[in-house]
Amino acid sequence: MIQNSVLPQSPALLTIAGFDPSSGAGITADLKVFAAHRAYGLAAITAMTVQSTQGVRRVDPVSPESLRQTLNCLAEDLPISGIKIGMLATAPVVGVVADFLENSGIPAANVVLDPVLESSSGRALLSWDGINLLKTRLLPLVGWVTPNLDELQSLTDTQVEAREDIPAVAADLAARIPGLNIVVTGGHLDPPDDFLRTSDGATRWFPGQRIETRSTHGTGCAFSSALLARLVAGDSAPQAVAAAKSYVAEAMQAAVPIGSGRGPLNHLYKL
Ligand code: PLP
Repeated sequence: MIQNSVLPQSPALLTIAGFDPSSGAGITADLKVFAAHRAYGLAAITAMTVQSTQGVRRVDPVSPESLRQTLNCLAEDLPISGIKIGMLATAPVVGVVADFLENSGIPAANVVLDPVLESSSGRALLSWDGINLLKTRLLPLVGWVTPNLDELQSLTDTQVEAREDIPAVAADLAARIPGLNIVVTGGHLDPPDDFLRTSDGATRWFPGQRIETRSTHGTGCAFSSALLARLVAGDSAPQAVAAAKSYVAEAMQAAVPIGSGRGPLNHLYKL
């Protein structure tokens, strides 16, 4: 008999994010991360993108009504243990996700927002009015946010240039959004340390080591999905951040070169 190791005991985790056909980032990458953590993955697409490892060429947001019905359809059918939110593309899509969170009954502590604003290739992945709505409506509905330095800067309208700037800017964001847990991902710092500020005001740095590789596409997606999986599995905040950081580092180290640009991590390296 084939052993049923994923269903039905596994938590169902939902990614609300964009589709990257190269599967380095976006929903298909998130599903691989969930599978690597023995969770069952659900996916609601916010936007189709035309992209490869060489960058994003085109973005087509889905109809907000289609997304609304997808989310409601899934929630009517089964219990969703946690949600990871990634690329949202437009303000109406942000609004649909906020409406869903308000009514879903899923605890904010199990909702992780990766505030995807721009691809590394420089393409906008969320409109300006979308960024404003994310700040005012969506952020207060989630328990976790995982900005990189540029995203932290956009969320707070404050310059974040160096490691030393991060604690004060994260404190400023925490003061504006009570109850928020913040992980600033330091992939662009040297060394690439991450910073955690939990909702009780405790702070901690997580040291990283620079890995020389071209396989860095979608590291933010992988980190936020792994963080969600570990939180839903019962880890404390520092345990979950440390485990998600190790997972991403190991998946980068295990990556094989794919494509001629920035390739994917090896999300399923444990297989
Ligand atoms: N495409 C989609 C659908 C994404 O969600 C993301 C990032 O989250 C990207 C592209 C950009 O990934 P990267 O910045 O690693 O190129």
